[in-house]
Amino acid sequence: MIKELQLRVTPRDGYNEQSIRRYVAREQGWDERTITCVRTLKRSIDARQREVYVNLTVRVFINEQPPVEEFEPIQYRDVSDRPQVVVVGAGPGGLFAALRLIELGLRPIVVERGKNVRDRKKDLARIRPEQKVDPESNYAFGEGGAGAYSDGKLFTRSKKRGNGEKILRVFCQHGASPSILSDAHPHIGTDKLPRVIENMRETILKCGGEVHFETKVTGLIFDGNTVIGAEAINNSQLSTFNSQLSFSGPVILATGHSARDVYRWLYNNKVEIEAKGLAVGVRLEHPAQLIDQIQYHSRRGRGDYLPAAEYSMVQQVDGRGVYSFCMCPGGFVVPAASGPEQIVVNGMSPSNRNGRWSNSGMVVELRPEDLEQIKNEKLKINNDDGLRVMRYQEELERICWQQGNMKQTAPAQRMADFVNNRLSFDLPESSYAPGLISSPLHFWMPEPIRRRLQEAFKAWGRQKHGFLTNEATVIGVETRTSSPVRILRDNDTLQHVTVQGLFPCGEGAGYAGGIVSAGVDGERCAEAVDQYLKK
Ligand SMILES: Cc1cc2nc3c(=O)[nH]c(=O)nc-3n(C[C@H](O)[C@H](O)[C@H](O)COP(=O)(O)OP(=O)(O)OC[C@H]3O[C@@H](n4cnc5c(N)ncnc54)[C@H](O)[C@@H]3O)c2cc1C
Repeated sequence: MIKELQLRVTPRDGYNEQSIRRYVAREQGWDERTITCVRTLKRSIDARQREVYVNLTVRVFINEQPPVEEFEPIQYRDVSDRPQVVVVGAGPGGLFAALRLIELGLRPIVVERGKNVRDRKKDLARIRPEQKVDPESNYAFGEGGAGAYSDGKLFTRSKKRGNGEKILRVFCQHGASPSILSDAHPHIGTDKLPRVIENMRETILKCGGEVHFETKVTGLIFDGNTVIGAEAINNSQLSTFNSQLSFSGPVILATGHSARDVYRWLYNNKVEIEAKGLAVGVRLEHPAQLIDQIQYHSRRGRGDYLPAAEYSMVQQVDGRGVYSFCMCPGGFVVPAASGPEQIVVNGMSPSNRNGRWSNSGMVVELRPEDLEQIKNEKLKINNDDGLRVMRYQEELERICWQQGNMKQTAPAQRMADFVNNRLSFDLPESSYAPGLISSPLHFWMPEPIRRRLQEAFKAWGRQKHGFLTNEATVIGVETRTSSPVRILRDNDTLQHVTVQGLFPCGEGAGYAGGIVSAGVDGERCAEAVDQYLKK
């Protein structure tokens, strides 16, 4: 017999198969020895009341063997002699596009400007001692894309655009823990994600696809109005000959939100794009224990069984949303710039989320029309300029870099000091490895952003006792929350609106915001290319 049950248990019973089994046997009056397996289908924490509970949906196998796999694995076939498709970018958009192309019997040629996920890690480790970022290998560029060294949070608010569950199953097939199929807020963790990404690359290679690292696409190859391939240069230090390359086939362009050179060459070549709104602000870092105490309503914090606590905040201030973004419980703040003269912060956490701090982006919605109100001598805003939001984003990152002593040390302020317009004389300890420097963010952050953040922090301080505190640090600036540009595509064919054979894909094109939605969009683009080639 197989039974599905909804359970509401204490944290002590909610995280261990043995305890769940015992609980089910006791509650249902069953002999525990007859239960061959308990599989958790869904798990979520209910911390709304003083007493915290774990809600579970479980499948119980009684005197019956469970299937070996918790999901049906996809059979990837050999595509060595099949028509080829160029996939630019090996982020989640590009990797899931490549795997879906294989499922559909097409041969992906993946072209990635950065290094493989292991070598990339060494470049990230160099940011702290060298205080600068490699423009081709960093938190945005390299195998796995912007998501490779991240929290690996795998939930998406977008339900309408495809099958997020399939993305999770593909991750599991490539080595992620099956718990991501059941957790309400699944995450893989920055320590585990690289191995999963390597396994995805192995599948592509085994099936006859190609993956070219350190190869930057510099332009598209046209036949009339149709893209028939991409030009690239090999930027590996080892390669001195044959650095010019070309790849033929329709192009899935999944280059992410930080490839400003790509936006520039599209714009200069009159491939239609438009300015898109995004959200900008700061990273806020609290001691993890404080967030646990606030969220779990207990001086003991998370206790022995609960995970590091999450939060999600939203506030409207003067007609614009202010919200927490990419919250990383027990995580680190990381230097996520992708070029010189930039400071950009972001967050990530390991799978066990047991770090001393919890951080989150705290960002203010910014629409293209808002730029007119923001006075900036350096930046002349032209309303027809499709790159204007990107130019503003660049300018903010440059100001932040100047405030950070023109290194990767990030300007920071204690939270209550920021709200009260006071310079901080010293700063709390922080997880941000390149170091912090005390700076009056209340003074140099653009007024509409600074004021809305201050108002939202006050409101959240009233809602959650202890949240607005000088134990927390505001770190500048968080600007890469989504793409500042949309590459226009047809809703049905997913091709660019005027250029045939070009499939703008993922977050950089403006059609995703996060790992899962980028993966879903990658799959959709692969399906659209399949239809295009059948015509
Ligand atoms: C530190 C950090 C933490 C994050 N945490 C999370 C999280 O926990 N959960 C979540 O859902 N999202 C998270 N995100 C966001 C998430 O990573 C992105 O939404 C997602 O990676 C977008 O996928 P993509 O494939 O569209 O683009 P990207 O992942 O940006 O991939 C684009 C790829 O294209 C390559 N590329 C760019 N230009 C070229 C070129 N000219 N030629 C060849 N290759 C090129 C880049 O090197 C890159 O590998 C995080 C991001 C960062 C930076």
